Amino acid sequence: MATFTYSAPKTVEEAVRALSSANGAARVLSGGTDLLVQLRTGRTKPAVIVDVKRIPGLIGVRAEGDGFVIGAATPCAVIGEHPELKTVWPGVVEAARLIGSTQVQGRATLAGNLCNASPAADSVPALIAARATCVLAGPGGQREVPVEAIATGPGTTSLAPGELVVEFRLPGRPPRSADAYLRFIPRTEMDIAVVGAAVNVALDASGTCREARIVLGAVAPTAILVPEAAAALVGSRLDGDALRRLDAATRRACTPIDDKRGTVEFRTRVAGVLARRAAGLAFQRAGGSQ
Ligand SMILES: Cc1cc2nc3c(=O)[nH]c(=O)nc-3n(C[C@H](O)[C@H](O)[C@H](O)COP(=O)(O)OP(=O)(O)OC[C@H]3O[C@@H](n4cnc5c(N)ncnc54)[C@H](O)[C@@H]3O)c2cc1C
Repeated sequence: MATFTYSAPKTVEEAVRALSSANGAARVLSGGTDLLVQLRTGRTKPAVIVDVKRIPGLIGVRAEGDGFVIGAATPCAVIGEHPELKTVWPGVVEAARLIGSTQVQGRATLAGNLCNASPAADSVPALIAARATCVLAGPGGQREVPVEAIATGPGTTSLAPGELVVEFRLPGRPPRSADAYLRFIPRTEMDIAVVGAAVNVALDASGTCREARIVLGAVAPTAILVPEAAAALVGSRLDGDALRRLDAATRRACTPIDDKRGTVEFRTRVAGVLARRAAGLAFQRAGGSQ
């Protein structure tokens, strides 16, 4: 393994300084479940590693207003054990809880999942469907951006040199709304999504969908929002016609790779199936009857 300087700052400002000092050759270390594998295989050779877990506030979940703030270095195990978060954002929590094993969950974070920029990252579709934002800190100060603005392609992000994710913000929810995330993997666990689908819906008092957001993972270079699929749900009570239109719109949006884990045709077909099933789950959780 190549040599590097290890830094464990106690403030966000120090972390930004350490990241900025390396002329683009610095990497943030959160849980390390992606980064350590990449270091060992030589896929990445940073000059500086900035461990952000000692910065107060970067680990933990707190309610703020009617929403939640999740520190960037919070392990998924902590997210999965937060009772209010599980009740309000069950889809986000179930996506985070799908990452790896119990051991991996003790370290892996949402920020690492997002900034590793794998198209198959499990938490990302659910965060985008939830309209989550992330707060970034960098040499120019702080900015808040939607989660979908971060990954720009496999392994690449829009983060500027010296920038890091400090926290995620999840909005509050209206009554009769819920989310769900489902993925397909060839094995029963510890595998990477061949397709992932996140659905977030809000229903009116009659159980009719008044708002929806649908996001697919692993079928394009980044997680993708599919507004046409969401439009198929709006105004419906998830009847057969809405599900058919949802399935068709979902399939049209897919531009997957073809590899040993799934052909283009298979991934495209499964995306439609998972989007329908995730929509059913989200409707059910929101109190809709089908
Ligand atoms: C056995 C195993 C099973 C896995 N299973 C799954 C799975 O089922 N689903 C899945 O989606 N992933 C899976 N992964 C991948 C990995 O666990 C996740 O992507 C995890 O969420 C990464 O988080 P981390 O905190 O460990 O990231 P790290 O390894 O610490 O970082 C990953 C990348 O993000 C950058 N980064 C981290 N934090 C920040 C920050 N705050 N700001 C800016 N950049 C940052 C790092 O510099 C690095 O480039 C698995 C990994 C292993 C080893």
